[in-house]
Amino acid sequence: MQKETDLARLLNRTTRRALRYLEGIEERSVAPAADAVHALQAFDEALPEDGLSAEEVLDKLDELGSPATTTTTGGRYFGFVIGSVLPAALGADWLCSAWDQNAGMSVVSPIAARLEEVAARWTLDALRLPAGAAVGFVTGATAANTSGLAAARHALLERSGFDVERDGLFGAPPLRIVAGDEVHVSVLKAIGLLGMGHARVERVPTDDQGALLASELPDLDDQTIVCIQAGNVNTGSFDPATEVVAAARAAGAWVHVDGAFGLWARASSRFDALTAGLEGADSWSTDAHKWLNVPYDSGLVICRDPSVLRKALGFQAAYLIDSGNREPAQLTPELSRRARGIPVWAALSSLGRAGLRDLVERCCTHARTFAERLVEAGHTIPHEVVLNQVLVLVESEERLARVLTRVQDEGIAWFGGTTWHGKSAIRISVSSWRTSADDVERSAEALIRALALP
Ligand SMILES: *Cc1c(COP(=O)(O)O)cnc(C)c1O
Repeated sequence: MQKETDLARLLNRTTRRALRYLEGIEERSVAPAADAVHALQAFDEALPEDGLSAEEVLDKLDELGSPATTTTTGGRYFGFVIGSVLPAALGADWLCSAWDQNAGMSVVSPIAARLEEVAARWTLDALRLPAGAAVGFVTGATAANTSGLAAARHALLERSGFDVERDGLFGAPPLRIVAGDEVHVSVLKAIGLLGMGHARVERVPTDDQGALLASELPDLDDQTIVCIQAGNVNTGSFDPATEVVAAARAAGAWVHVDGAFGLWARASSRFDALTAGLEGADSWSTDAHKWLNVPYDSGLVICRDPSVLRKALGFQAAYLIDSGNREPAQLTPELSRRARGIPVWAALSSLGRAGLRDLVERCCTHARTFAERLVEAGHTIPHEVVLNQVLVLVESEERLARVLTRVQDEGIAWFGGTTWHGKSAIRISVSSWRTSADDVERSAEALIRALALP
């Protein structure tokens, strides 16, 4: 009994601390204060001989840790591509931790297995991808790109009678990989991890929006993987899927889509011109922790032919009895892992189709407002604002650093920087369900103020 009381006290206290944090996010500085980061030194101590009480551990974590967080979960964080956390997804994630389910095998966690199936089906439905595709729940789009490209590698080498998982790449016929000049680093990393060599990628020139030029595609064949992206991290632009898929189909090539955030644009018909043709690919990667606003970490690999993903990532073990069910660990690199599908299910469950559509459309409207305010103030947006990403040109790298430091120090909003076609730019990504029209106005003002100073 005593133990239960202690646990209740601990969890209630943790809830109060989490609530205090979340209720304070609108007021606090988006970037942590320098002294809060400095105070993290207090953690640099030797492993204690005797442990603290759980309460002491949590108190210390909150008192030192919370002030040293960046408020990425608030409505005015626009760095990288970072979502907030939907309340239902947060609650579901907490409950998952209480359950501590190992989601790898259906026999270990019927609930995790069932909700992964539902979350997979709903995701395919929301993104208008083939209903029969397999979905694996991984840590993020990097792992999803790796998984999708592992499936591609398997399928293409199988055509030469080669079982790459069994025989290895040594002695295998070389595969070709084609990708746009603006390919995301995570795809290159995945290619490297898979032993296919990222320096071997045949790069295709892109247009002024960062989209691959279909007219510049090299001749494709059935030993080629074509990587396209749905959502450029700088401009939000999409590679032309319809043309690429048609060329790949004709040649028997495999098309993999990196759709870390942009794939979610398919939840709204407003973006059909941008997202057309993506359904014709062979594999896709996306994140749930970005635009779906699920807690870290959460990504999805999707593969048109489930048997290929299973052959690339699956395994056999004496203790695994074929259940005839969808077995989660056969679709991901991991064996044991947390029940990532559950917060995805919770997010989709609480949003519904309309809520998801609204989340996507709202973020894009906010992005356009940002662009309008900055243009009104005399600044240059070097691309069409087609999605939730906006760039603002700044004269030099030095000035970019000064402007960013100024805004980040002021604490109202947080923006990052990038280089766009040789020019320095501020990068704005609107990916949070929390961002309101007022957040956008306040943040645009803060940015324009910082840009006005010398
Ligand atoms: C964020 C991102 C990735 C990598 O995703 P992680 O979740 O960080 O692994 C890949 N591609 C694009 C286009 C992205 O925006």
